Amino acid sequence: MSECIFCQIADKEMDAAVVYEDDAVMAFDDIMPQAPVHTLIIPKEHHAHIGDAVSAETLLALFAAVPKVAEIKGVAESGYRVIVNNGDDAAQTVGHLHVHVMGGRQMAHGMVRFSDET
Ligand code: 5GP
Ligand code: ZN
Repeated sequence: MSECIFCQIADKEMDAAVVYEDDAVMAFDDIMPQAPVHTLIIPKEHHAHIGDAVSAETLLALFAAVPKVAEIKGVAESGYRVIVNNGDDAAQTVGHLHVHVMGGRQMAHGMVRFSDET
């Protein structure tokens, strides 16, 4: 079994609330949602980061899944934020590339909060 939790979810070795799946990607709800809609989209193939030899085909599959997930989760019309935390300074906590799709509530302007700010 892989040590990577998102590989375990992709391999169906770990449970997740799956929202969408195709040959290349899987989307599932975040276990600790930070918005009413908070879904993660992962490539089934393990890549730690966006620069980790991810093929153009996989990147396309990841981003092509975004509007599909938004439609399924009911935020396609209301809008949503798409976030990729990449590496340490971005506070990436799971080392398997993933796209956050977040929505369901009006967000404030500004996307970044630094760790030395309250
Ligand atoms: P990151 O901070 O790496 O961009 O985001 C990782 C996300 O994965 C976090 O929002 C966290 O709540 C979520 N997460 C961590 N472990 C699990 C898990 O086992 N299952 C699910 N569904 N989400 C997870
Ligand atoms: Zn992985």
